[in-house]
Amino acid sequence: MYLERIAVTFMDSCLTDALKLRATAEFSRDIGTLLPYLNAVLEQASYDERADCLTVIKGTRVIEIYPGWMTIARAVNATDAFGLIQWVKDQVNETHLRRDELKPSLRYQRRATVMDIFNRLPQPAVNCGDCGEPTCMSFAARVWLGEETLANCTRIHRGAARAEPIEIRRSTDPETGA
Ligand code: SF4
Repeated sequence: MYLERIAVTFMDSCLTDALKLRATAEFSRDIGTLLPYLNAVLEQASYDERADCLTVIKGTRVIEIYPGWMTIARAVNATDAFGLIQWVKDQVNETHLRRDELKPSLRYQRRATVMDIFNRLPQPAVNCGDCGEPTCMSFAARVWLGEETLANCTRIHRGAARAEPIEIRRSTDPETGA
């Protein structure tokens, strides 16, 4: 087997949501040469060649895969985190088996930031609270986290903001998108 083990080295509550978990885990071997191949086969993936990091969005969870280790943000619980780690291991091993038939991809997609989303809301911010959030900024943060959709801003329906779609690719940094 190409990648035999992924060992969890850290697990704790997310900094932005104490009900979710973040985790770090180390690979039993360097998988760096495989990252562009994984980028070619995984949905919702983006490879940053400069950082040598593949980011994968799975639902509201964010997985970052580096040559020797990986991180998970916003796992639902420990079972979810371990399931995602096993998923990564399976994807790595299956992709390695198929690599001769795959074309590696260096596709990189800039991710929307909370500010990108906020700028689609009514300006200046009215903070009306109709969406259930105290401020437009907190609503934008929830959209970024995948817990809300832009359509639930009632002011957008009144034509006060730009409602065209925005592609939201979450990262571990909601402000910079890095
Ligand atoms: S409904 Fe729209 S305008 Fe009102 S607080 Fe929510 S995001 Fe802001």
